[in-house]
Amino acid sequence: MPEGPSVRKFQLLTSPFVGQVVAKVGGSSRKLSVNDLNALRLQDSQVHGKNLYLAFVAAEGPVGPTAEETALQREAACGARCPALQGQAGVPHPLSQDEELQEAQHSRSEAPEAAEGRGNWLRIHFGMFGSVRANEFSRASRANKRGDWKDPVPRLVLHFESGGFLVFYNCRMLWCSSPRADPASDILAVEFHRGRALRALCAPDPICNTLLDQRYFSGLGNIIKNEILYLARIHPLTPGSLLALSDLERLLDCALQFSSEWLHSKLRGQGLHPRVYQKEQCPLGHPLMKGTFGPSGGFKRLTWWCPQCQPAVLPWDGDPSPVTE
Ligand SMILES: [Zn+2]
Repeated sequence: MPEGPSVRKFQLLTSPFVGQVVAKVGGSSRKLSVNDLNALRLQDSQVHGKNLYLAFVAAEGPVGPTAEETALQREAACGARCPALQGQAGVPHPLSQDEELQEAQHSRSEAPEAAEGRGNWLRIHFGMFGSVRANEFSRASRANKRGDWKDPVPRLVLHFESGGFLVFYNCRMLWCSSPRADPASDILAVEFHRGRALRALCAPDPICNTLLDQRYFSGLGNIIKNEILYLARIHPLTPGSLLALSDLERLLDCALQFSSEWLHSKLRGQGLHPRVYQKEQCPLGHPLMKGTFGPSGGFKRLTWWCPQCQPAVLPWDGDPSPVTE
């Protein structure tokens, strides 16, 4: 079966179609009711291990993730520094009112939706001759045993409104609630591995970057990052290696508690009331700073912090500006 690099290539073929609506469906799959895909919007495409995951949403439903969010998800799916994604690094998009919603979907869409049925991710597992083609069909390269030149039969064909199409061969497809990731890195999973997370936080990188590393903190997004750094009173650019173990333990406690509380308030239909995210003042009335931080060559995220509640440990070379500017 195709291994990681091949599936990653398939994923890159699907990426240009993210955001587009399925206009027509074809294919021979019997396990999947292919017509269910009609009029859905391809919202995301990820690769985990040997599986490709495509997320679909109702086309008239909530808007999909912004390019930055999608790029971040793809980056997470692709490993820390996927060369194919270099150059897409985000100029932060203007903040929209529904960023919280997008962030919530980004951080943890799985749990609330899992309760509602089949889930909106299509997991695609490829067989020996499995492949994905974009805007072309696979043609027979030789005659079969009976001497016929017969083109392979696609399991699924997705025609998009743009006129382009994706063809999936020799694969098994199944709806699921989320891409299967390592639960030991999932901040909302009981299997979350605290020791591994603490080791990751000890890295000399700015702590705000490490927190967004989905290899260790799957599900942790920009809102959670901002809020827990405030709660733990840690400046976002502090290198993790400069923090005491007790500080890192506290940060981790904040991460787990905040995420779990956010999930539960979502399940109760309640919104989030951030303390610093997109705010001008911290709850104590201090003016906040904001800056755009991320790994060099990677994706930059808007970061808010209180210079009084979260004093800097070392000078930084970022580009912070007062929120009220
Ligand atoms: Zn403050």
